Amino acid sequence: MNDENSHKLYMRFPDFFPKRFFEFAIGDGWFQIFYDLCESLEPLVKDFVHPFAFLQVKEKFGDLRMYTVGDASPEIKNLLSSAQEKASRTCDQCAEPGVWREDNWCRVRCDKHTK
Ligand SMILES: [Zn+2]
Repeated sequence: MNDENSHKLYMRFPDFFPKRFFEFAIGDGWFQIFYDLCESLEPLVKDFVHPFAFLQVKEKFGDLRMYTVGDASPEIKNLLSSAQEKASRTCDQCAEPGVWREDNWCRVRCDKHTK
């Protein structure tokens, strides 16, 4: 993800990205999915004893993988799964509809970004 997009996330949701946060390794096409996810999570995590946060967010074999710490209610887990489901049909470069491509990189790509 480019610096501008990751900066937007750090500024808007500072509590979700503790000092230990390791990396964003996803394409910019998934930025909005992840941003929307953080907005939905925000009201759900307010009074947690063990604050919910991300440690790492990455793409692996076309999957959106999120490593988290803290409390995660079933509602939170549902939101994470639904973001993963959206990512699985969204080009990770341009956010257009995409499908999983086995060739070369195993990524979710639109036709334009396949080659
Ligand atoms: Zn694309």
